[in-house]
Amino acid sequence: MTAPATMPATAPVVLGAGPAGCAAAIVLARSGAEPLLIDRDAEVGDALCGGFMSWRTAATTRKLGIDLEQLGAQRVTALRLFAGRRFAQSALPEPAYGLSRRGFDSALRRTAVAAGARLEVDTIRALAPGCASGESREYRSDSLFLASGKHDLRGATRPRGARDPALGLRLRIAPDPQLTALIGETIELHLFAGGYAGIVLQEDGSANICLALRKSLLARAGNDPAQLLDLLAGESESFAARLQFAPANPRVDTIAAVPYGWIAQDTAPGLFRLGDQAAVIPSLAGEGMSIAIASGMAAAQAWQQGGGGAAPAYQQTFARRARRPVRVAEAIWQLAERELGGHALTQIARSVAPAARLAMRLSRIAA
Ligand SMILES: Cc1cc2nc3c(=O)[nH]c(=O)nc-3n(C[C@H](O)[C@H](O)[C@H](O)COP(=O)(O)OP(=O)(O)OC[C@H]3O[C@@H](n4cnc5c(N)ncnc54)[C@H](O)[C@@H]3O)c2cc1C
Repeated sequence: MTAPATMPATAPVVLGAGPAGCAAAIVLARSGAEPLLIDRDAEVGDALCGGFMSWRTAATTRKLGIDLEQLGAQRVTALRLFAGRRFAQSALPEPAYGLSRRGFDSALRRTAVAAGARLEVDTIRALAPGCASGESREYRSDSLFLASGKHDLRGATRPRGARDPALGLRLRIAPDPQLTALIGETIELHLFAGGYAGIVLQEDGSANICLALRKSLLARAGNDPAQLLDLLAGESESFAARLQFAPANPRVDTIAAVPYGWIAQDTAPGLFRLGDQAAVIPSLAGEGMSIAIASGMAAAQAWQQGGGGAAPAYQQTFARRARRPVRVAEAIWQLAERELGGHALTQIARSVAPAARLAMRLSRIAA
C-alpha cells in the first residue's frame, strides 16, 4: 500500500463547506490567504434543517455579500405558536426568511470559490494536531478550521450520551396554493410533549417541515417516522391540517443525537472550531446558521491577527458570545417540550407580546 501524499504546511485548511466553513473561507480568501476548503460532497446537498433564516442570519450573510432576497428567499414576518388547542401569533422583531439549505449553501460555496478558496472533495476521517487525515490524503497545516457540523471527527469528538437525545426529522410538501395561504409569511412552531415541528415556506413555494423530538417519542411510534407523524397529527388538529397536504408516503430524512446546548469552551493552538463544532443552539430558536456564519467570520478574523496561535483566544471569546443565546434557547426548548410548558408559552406569547419578542431577541448571537 502506498502512503498517502502529504500537503506542505502552507494554507489554512477548512474542514467542511457548510455555512460555517464557507464563511471562514470567504473571509480568509478575501484577505489573500488562499485557504483550502474540503467537503465530502462534490455537489451541495439539501441538509436537514428548518430552513428558517433569522434576521441576524440575513444580516451576517449580507456582510459576506450575499442577499437572501436575491436568492428568492420567502419573507417571514411573524411567529405562530401552537400547543394542543392553544394558538398565539407574534410579529418577529425584524423580517426573517425561509430558504432551502441547497439554495443557501450553494450561494456560500460559490462565493467562497469566487473569492479564491480552493475546493477539494474528500472525506476527513480523523484529526490530530496540525493534521487532518482524509480518505484521499493527509492535510497538514498549522491552522485547521473544523466546520464538519453535525459530524464529529475522530480526535475531536463532542460529548454524547444524553439519556433521551434530540433527533431531527424533515419532510417537504410540494407547493400548493391552499397551503401557501395557510402558512403565509409565518414561521409556525407546533409544540408537543417531547419536541416540536417547525413549518416555513421556501423559495420554490414548498413547505419545509422540520421536527426536533426526543428519541423516546419516536420509540413510542415504533421507531417509524410515518407512524410518528400520525401520532402527532392525532394530538393536534392544526398540525394535521398542514400534514394533509403531504403525499401518502412522504420521504422523511432523519439525523440522530443532536447535542443541544454544547459549547466548546477552549481549543488547542492551530484548531479553530466553527458552527455546530463551536456551539449547538436548540434548533427551535432558528439561530444555528447565524452562529455558524458569525463563528466562521470571527475565527478567520482572529487568524488574520495572530495565525494558528490565535485559536484558543478566539474559542474562549466565541464561547462567551454564544452563551446567552444558547442558554436562553435551551430554557425555551425545555419549557416548550413539556405539555404545560407549551401551553404557558402560547399564553405568554398571546398576552405579553413584548416578552415573546424579547425572548426572540435574546436568543440571537450578538452582531
Ligand atoms: C432539526 C434541526 C433543525 C434546524 N433548523 C434550523 C433553522 O431553521 N435555522 C437555523 O438557523 N438553524 C437550524 N438548525 C441548525 C443548523 O442546521 C446548524 O446550526 C448549521 O447547519 C451549522 O452549520 P455548520 O456549517 O456548522 O455545519 P453543517 O451545515 O452541518 O455543514 C457541515 C459541512 O461539512 C461537511 N462534512 C461533514 N463531515 C465531513 C467530513 N468528515 N469530511 C468532509 N466534509 C464533511 C458536510 O458535507 C457539510 O457540507 C437546525 C438544526 C437541526 C438539528
